[in-house]
Amino acid sequence: MDSMIRATANDAMVRVFAAMTTDLVEEARQRHNTSPVATAALGRLLTAGAMMGWMNKGDKDILTLLIKGEGPINGITVTADSHGTVKGYVNNPNVIIPAKSNGKLDVSGSIMPGTLDVIMDLGLKEPYASHIDLISGEIAEDLTYYYASSCQIPSSVGLGVLLNKENTIRCAGGFIIQLMPFATEECISKIEKNLANIPSVTQILKEADSPKALIDILCEGMDVEINDTITPKFKCDCSKERVTKALVSIGKAEINRMMEEENGAELVCQFCNTKYRFTESELRNIRDSL
Ligand SMILES: [Zn+2]
Repeated sequence: MDSMIRATANDAMVRVFAAMTTDLVEEARQRHNTSPVATAALGRLLTAGAMMGWMNKGDKDILTLLIKGEGPINGITVTADSHGTVKGYVNNPNVIIPAKSNGKLDVSGSIMPGTLDVIMDLGLKEPYASHIDLISGEIAEDLTYYYASSCQIPSSVGLGVLLNKENTIRCAGGFIIQLMPFATEECISKIEKNLANIPSVTQILKEADSPKALIDILCEGMDVEINDTITPKFKCDCSKERVTKALVSIGKAEINRMMEEENGAELVCQFCNTKYRFTESELRNIRDSL
């Protein structure tokens, strides 16, 4: 079962988040009918989004991760709240490109070159936003770089999505480990040594039934305090009412055109692929209310 753990270690010199997101990523894959490389790219960013959104403290804080790339995927958008709920999509879910020479899905090749925007809406007048050029396109390395360059927080991010032969999700998850400013040299070198023992996130998660297994390796030789555990979920907040508002913004002329040429309209939520059907008479009511 999916879960997400927040913990501190070594007298709070280390802060760590670990997630198992197998069901969440499978839900995203089914909703968007993604190709294997698109599944891996979206799954990694959704997993990061779930953890990063959970770091926000405000009840209504919203985090958006936006990747734009010149590669065939073109872009990935993920939005997360502070309670482990995420939604997201890739611009081109059907991308098929050759695997890398080591047999792994070429996420980087499907994105690069590209940029990452991290936008935090913390209920203030202006959202807090940072923009970086992607350095690897594998997503985890790019987020590690984001924390160092935009937040000045020494961090290491690991993300992984492993597929079964029939392209369903075998396991997915990740971690974010961060050093607080008062971390000692001894603590830093322990973390560096432990990080070297995690060759791949999915290699550990496929044999574990909890993301605690990642924390055990990352924080080996340290006292660990588990602060909270929640279940991350893929969930969209769209509704026919919201989609109606989008229709209103399209304007009278376009609504008239849809009534005449298509005898109705079908609008699709980008985030979750839910289809909303409007009959001609529903469109007429919306038009007449304008
Ligand atoms: Zn939706």
